[in-house]
Amino acid sequence: MRKDDCIFCKIANGEIPSKTLYEDPEFRVILDLGPATKGHALILPKEHAGDLYELPEESAAKAMTLAQKIGKTMVQKLHCDGLNLVQNNGEAAGQTVRHFHLHLIPRYVNDGQSINWKPGKPSDEELEAIRKTIVQ
Ligand code: 5GP
Ligand code: ZN
Repeated sequence: MRKDDCIFCKIANGEIPSKTLYEDPEFRVILDLGPATKGHALILPKEHAGDLYELPEESAAKAMTLAQKIGKTMVQKLHCDGLNLVQNNGEAAGQTVRHFHLHLIPRYVNDGQSINWKPGKPSDEELEAIRKTIVQ
Protein backbone atom coordinates (compact mmCIF):
# COMPACT_ATOMS: atom_id res chain seq x y z
CA MET A 1 0.00 0.00 0.00
CA ARG A 2 1.06 3.56 -0.63
CA LYS A 3 0.21 6.29 1.84
CA ASP A 4 -1.33 9.44 0.35
CA ASP A 5 0.31 11.92 2.71
CA CYS A 6 3.76 10.29 2.71
CA ILE A 7 6.49 12.20 0.89
CA PHE A 8 8.75 9.15 0.54
CA CYS A 9 5.87 7.16 -1.01
CA LYS A 10 5.59 9.93 -3.59
CA ILE A 11 9.35 10.06 -4.20
CA ALA A 12 9.77 6.28 -4.31
CA ASN A 13 6.96 5.97 -6.85
CA GLY A 14 8.18 8.82 -9.04
CA GLU A 15 5.36 11.31 -8.29
CA ILE A 16 7.96 13.72 -6.93
CA PRO A 17 11.23 13.87 -8.87
CA SER A 18 14.44 12.82 -7.18
CA LYS A 19 18.07 12.22 -8.02
CA THR A 20 17.68 8.50 -8.58
CA LEU A 21 20.69 6.20 -8.44
CA TYR A 22 18.79 2.94 -8.88
CA GLU A 23 15.22 1.76 -9.43
CA ASP A 24 13.44 -1.58 -9.71
CA PRO A 25 9.78 -2.57 -9.22
CA GLU A 26 10.15 -2.62 -5.40
CA PHE A 27 12.79 -0.01 -4.55
CA ARG A 28 14.18 3.37 -5.47
CA VAL A 29 17.55 4.65 -4.26
CA ILE A 30 17.92 8.44 -4.19
CA LEU A 31 20.41 11.07 -3.16
CA ASP A 32 19.60 12.67 0.19
CA LEU A 33 18.72 16.38 -0.14
CA GLY A 34 20.58 17.15 3.09
CA PRO A 35 23.62 14.93 2.67
CA ALA A 36 26.04 14.21 5.49
CA THR A 37 28.72 13.61 2.86
CA LYS A 38 29.12 13.51 -0.92
CA GLY A 39 26.95 10.68 -2.22
CA HIS A 40 24.70 10.22 0.87
CA ALA A 41 21.85 8.10 -0.43
CA LEU A 42 18.56 6.64 0.82
CA ILE A 43 17.16 3.22 -0.03
CA LEU A 44 13.36 3.51 -0.20
CA PRO A 45 10.83 0.70 -0.62
CA LYS A 46 7.98 1.68 -2.97
CA GLU A 47 5.37 0.15 -0.68
CA HIS A 48 4.78 2.15 2.49
CA ALA A 49 6.26 0.82 5.72
CA GLY A 50 6.59 3.34 8.53
CA ASP A 51 9.70 1.77 9.99
CA LEU A 52 11.74 -1.41 10.26
CA TYR A 53 9.07 -3.21 12.29
CA GLU A 54 6.46 -2.71 9.57
CA LEU A 55 8.77 -3.69 6.73
CA PRO A 56 8.07 -7.16 5.28
CA GLU A 57 10.92 -9.59 5.91
CA GLU A 58 11.66 -10.04 2.20
CA SER A 59 11.94 -6.28 1.72
CA ALA A 60 14.28 -6.02 4.71
CA ALA A 61 16.53 -8.64 3.14
CA LYS A 62 16.42 -6.91 -0.23
CA ALA A 63 17.25 -3.52 1.32
CA MET A 64 20.45 -5.01 2.74
CA THR A 65 21.33 -6.64 -0.58
CA LEU A 66 20.88 -3.28 -2.29
CA ALA A 67 23.03 -1.59 0.35
CA GLN A 68 25.80 -4.05 -0.44
CA LYS A 69 25.50 -3.52 -4.19
CA ILE A 70 25.31 0.27 -4.07
CA GLY A 71 27.92 0.46 -1.34
CA LYS A 72 30.38 -1.38 -3.58
CA THR A 73 29.57 1.02 -6.42
CA MET A 74 30.22 3.99 -4.13
CA VAL A 75 33.64 2.65 -3.25
CA GLN A 76 34.45 2.18 -6.95
CA LYS A 77 33.00 5.42 -8.30
CA LEU A 78 33.32 7.89 -5.44
CA HIS A 79 36.51 6.38 -4.02
CA CYS A 80 35.10 6.78 -0.54
CA ASP A 81 37.25 5.48 2.30
CA GLY A 82 34.39 3.96 4.28
CA LEU A 83 30.64 3.56 4.40
CA ASN A 84 28.07 3.89 7.19
CA LEU A 85 24.65 2.25 7.03
CA VAL A 86 22.24 4.14 9.27
CA GLN A 87 18.61 3.30 9.82
CA ASN A 88 16.52 5.26 12.34
CA ASN A 89 13.28 4.02 13.88
CA GLY A 90 11.19 6.36 16.03
CA GLU A 91 11.65 9.98 16.99
CA ALA A 92 13.90 9.06 19.91
CA ALA A 93 16.26 7.43 17.42
CA GLY A 94 16.26 10.44 15.10
CA GLN A 95 13.68 9.29 12.55
CA THR A 96 12.17 12.36 10.91
CA VAL A 97 10.38 10.76 7.93
CA ARG A 98 7.93 7.98 8.80
CA HIS A 99 8.62 5.81 5.77
CA PHE A 100 11.35 3.20 6.16
CA HIS A 101 14.66 4.30 4.69
CA LEU A 102 18.18 3.02 4.93
CA HIS A 103 20.90 5.66 4.78
CA LEU A 104 24.07 4.91 2.83
CA ILE A 105 26.67 7.42 3.94
CA PRO A 106 29.98 7.27 2.11
CA ARG A 107 32.80 8.32 4.42
CA TYR A 108 36.00 10.12 3.52
CA VAL A 109 39.07 10.58 5.67
CA ASN A 110 38.67 13.92 7.48
CA ASP A 111 35.12 14.46 6.18
CA GLY A 112 34.24 16.18 9.46
CA GLN A 113 31.25 13.94 10.16
CA SER A 114 30.87 11.45 12.98
CA ILE A 115 28.37 8.76 13.88
CA ASN A 116 29.21 8.17 17.50
CA TRP A 117 27.90 7.35 20.93
CA LYS A 118 29.33 7.60 24.41
CA PRO A 119 30.16 4.02 25.45
CA GLY A 120 28.58 2.92 28.75
CA LYS A 121 30.37 0.82 31.39
CA PRO A 122 27.86 -1.81 32.51
CA SER A 123 28.79 -4.41 35.11
CA ASP A 124 28.57 -8.07 34.21
CA GLU A 125 25.34 -8.26 36.28
CA GLU A 126 23.81 -5.37 34.35
CA LEU A 127 24.72 -6.96 31.02
CA GLU A 128 23.26 -10.27 32.17
CA ALA A 129 20.04 -8.60 33.34
CA ILE A 130 19.53 -6.88 29.99
CA ARG A 131 20.40 -10.08 28.12
CA LYS A 132 17.71 -11.94 30.10
CA THR A 133 15.15 -9.18 29.52
CA ILE A 134 15.69 -9.42 25.76
CA VAL A 135 15.81 -13.19 25.33
CA GLN A 136 13.16 -14.33 27.85
P1 5GP B 1 15.82 10.29 9.12
O1 5GP B 1 16.22 11.41 10.05
O2 5GP B 1 14.30 10.13 9.11
O3 5GP B 1 16.54 9.00 9.35
O4 5GP B 1 16.28 10.75 7.68
C1 5GP B 1 15.50 11.51 6.82
C2 5GP B 1 16.42 11.95 5.70
O5 5GP B 1 15.63 12.31 4.60
C3 5GP B 1 17.29 13.16 6.04
O6 5GP B 1 18.66 12.80 5.83
C4 5GP B 1 16.81 14.23 5.08
O7 5GP B 1 17.86 15.04 4.60
C5 5GP B 1 16.19 13.42 3.96
N1 5GP B 1 15.08 14.06 3.28
C6 5GP B 1 14.00 14.64 3.86
N2 5GP B 1 13.14 15.08 2.91
C7 5GP B 1 13.70 14.74 1.72
C8 5GP B 1 13.27 14.93 0.36
O8 5GP B 1 12.21 15.49 0.07
N3 5GP B 1 14.09 14.43 -0.61
C9 5GP B 1 15.27 13.82 -0.32
N4 5GP B 1 15.99 13.37 -1.36
N5 5GP B 1 15.70 13.63 0.93
C10 5GP B 1 14.93 14.09 1.94
ZN1 ZN C 1 5.38 6.09 2.60
